[in-house]
Amino acid sequence: MNAAPVLIVGGGPVGLMAALLLARWGVPSVILEAKPSRELVGSKSICVQRDVLDIYHRVGVAEALMREGVTWQVGRTFYREHELFTITFPDPSRSAFPGFINIGQSSVERKLESAVAKQPLVDLRYAHRVTAVSQDHSVVTVRAQTPTGIVEVTGTHLVAADGSHSAVRDRLRLDFEGHSFADLFLIADIRTVLPFGAERRFHFDPEWNPGRQVLVHPQPDSVWRIDWQVPEGFDLAADQASGRLDERIRRIVGDGAYEIVWLSLYRFQQRMASRMRVGRVLLAGDAAHLMAPFGARGLNSGVQDAENAAWKIAFDRAGWAGPELLASYQHERSAAARENLRVTGDTMRFLVPQSDAEWAWRRDVLERAVVDPAARAQVNSGKLAEPYWYLDSPLTTGLPPEHFPVGPGQPRPPVAGVLCPDAPVSVLAEPSATRLRELFGTGFTVLSHTITPTVDTEVPTRAYRLDLIDRDGLAAEALRAWPGWCGVVRPDGHLAAVLNDPDANTVRAAIDRARGGSV
Ligand SMILES: Cc1cc2nc3c(=O)[nH]c(=O)nc-3n(C[C@H](O)[C@H](O)[C@H](O)COP(=O)(O)OP(=O)(O)OC[C@H]3O[C@@H](n4cnc5c(N)ncnc54)[C@H](O)[C@@H]3O)c2cc1C
Repeated sequence: MNAAPVLIVGGGPVGLMAALLLARWGVPSVILEAKPSRELVGSKSICVQRDVLDIYHRVGVAEALMREGVTWQVGRTFYREHELFTITFPDPSRSAFPGFINIGQSSVERKLESAVAKQPLVDLRYAHRVTAVSQDHSVVTVRAQTPTGIVEVTGTHLVAADGSHSAVRDRLRLDFEGHSFADLFLIADIRTVLPFGAERRFHFDPEWNPGRQVLVHPQPDSVWRIDWQVPEGFDLAADQASGRLDERIRRIVGDGAYEIVWLSLYRFQQRMASRMRVGRVLLAGDAAHLMAPFGARGLNSGVQDAENAAWKIAFDRAGWAGPELLASYQHERSAAARENLRVTGDTMRFLVPQSDAEWAWRRDVLERAVVDPAARAQVNSGKLAEPYWYLDSPLTTGLPPEHFPVGPGQPRPPVAGVLCPDAPVSVLAEPSATRLRELFGTGFTVLSHTITPTVDTEVPTRAYRLDLIDRDGLAAEALRAWPGWCGVVRPDGHLAAVLNDPDANTVRAAIDRARGGSV
C-alpha cells in the first residue's frame, strides 16, 4: 500500500468526510484548511437525508447526529391564509434512519472534527491556504500559504473540497458556469417556543411577506430556522435598526421571548464546474456544484461525492481499479449534480419567477391549489434530497430499464445503478451487522437468493445467501429477488448488477466492470 497521503483541500464537512471515508480503507490523508481554526458556520445546512445518515454511520458519527438532531415527518404548505396540503413522509424502506433529521451544520462539523481527531490516518492542518496545484501521472503537489511561509505537500490524489470559491478549481482553469438569483434570502436561526411540533412549514405569499415566501424549519434545542425571501437591495442593517426585523419575527413567534442565534443574508446560485475530475484531482461538494438550498441537496450530495471519491481513490491506490474507475467519478457525480441542479432549478422558477409570465403562472397555480387537488401537485417549495441512480454509468452492468421513474421523490425500483435498499439481516459470523447496508463498504458484496455463486476475483469481495441471512424474507422482498436472483453491490452500496442465475464468469465480469475494468 502507498504510504503517501491523499491531499484534501478544504476542511469543511465534505473534506472531513472524504478523509474519514478514506481512513476506512486504511488510506492516510492530509487536510489543508485555509482558516486558522474551525469557525461556526452560521445559518447553513440543517437537513440530513436518510441515505446520507448511512454514510455518516460508516464513519461512526450517525448515532451522535441522531441523538442531537430533530426528526421531522410532516411538511405543511400554506398559501396566504389557506393550508394547501400536508405531506407526511411515509417510510418507503426498512432503513434504520428516518427520512430526514435537522441539525445545524456547525454541529455536524464539530462531530466530524472530533472523529477526525481520533483518527490517526488523518492529518488536519489549519492555516494552510492552498494557492497552487500541479500533477503528473503519479503524484499531485500543492503549495499552501501558512503563517510561517509557503509549504509544498505531495500526495497520490487530491480531493478539492474547498467550497464555492475553490482555488483548486480556479488553478485547474475550470469554468463554474451558472447564474445567481436577484432575490435575497434572509435566514435567521431563532430560539423560541412555537405553538406547533417539529414540522416544516412553507408559507407562499403570507400577508406578512406579500408576494414572497417564508419557510420555517425545526432545529434542536428549541431553535427554528426562519427563511424570508426578500427583494434585491434589501438592507438588513436598516431592517434591524427600524424594528422591522423584530416585527417580521413577531409575525411568526408571537409575543413570547425569542433569541436570535444567527442571522445571514444569502443570494442563491446554481452553478457547476465544467469538470469534476482532472487527472488525479476530484472536485467534491460546493467546489463542484452550488445549488439553492430548497430541497437540501447541497451538503447531502457533497457527502455522496466524498463517498464516491473515497472508494475509487482507495481502489486506485491498492491496484484494484481498472483504467476507467477514476474517470467514472466524473460520469457519475456530474450526472448527479446535473440532476440536483435541474430539480432545484425547477423549484427556484416557482419561488423566484423570472418573467411576468412565470409570475402569472405561479399565482394561477397557487389560487387553483386552494380548491383543486390537481393544482397542488404543481406547487413546488423544494423536492427533498435523494441519492442519484447510476443507471447508465460505465460501471453498471445491463441496459437501463425502459420505464424507470425519474421524478423527484418517486420510489426507485432495485435495478442495477440504484442504491441498494436496506432491510434487517442476521449474519452468524458478523453479529454487529444487523441490516443489509452494514454488510457494504469494505469491498464488493455479492448477494444471491438461494445459491451461493462462485466469486472469482482479486478485489475484496464477500458473498451472502439471502435465504441464510434474511430469515424474515424482508431483504428479498425489498430487492424483489427471485430464486435465481443475484446482485453485485459496490462499496458505496449501489447495485452494480442484477443478474439471473449467473455463473462465475458472469459475476466476475460484473465486478470487473464495476471496478472500472475494460469489459
Ligand atoms: C442557507 C443555506 C442552507 C443550506 N441548507 C442545506 C441543507 O439543509 N442540506 C444540505 O445538504 N445542504 C444545505 N446547504 C448547503 C451546504 O451548506 C453546503 O453544500 C456545504 O457547506 C458544502 O460543504 P463543503 O465542505 O463542500 O464546502 P464549505 O462548507 O464551503 O467548506 C470549504 C472549506 O474549504 C476551505 N477553503 C477554501 N479555500 C481554501 C483554500 N484555498 N485552501 C484551503 N482551504 C480552503 C474553507 O475555509 C472551508 O472550510 C445550505 C446552504 C445554505 C447557504
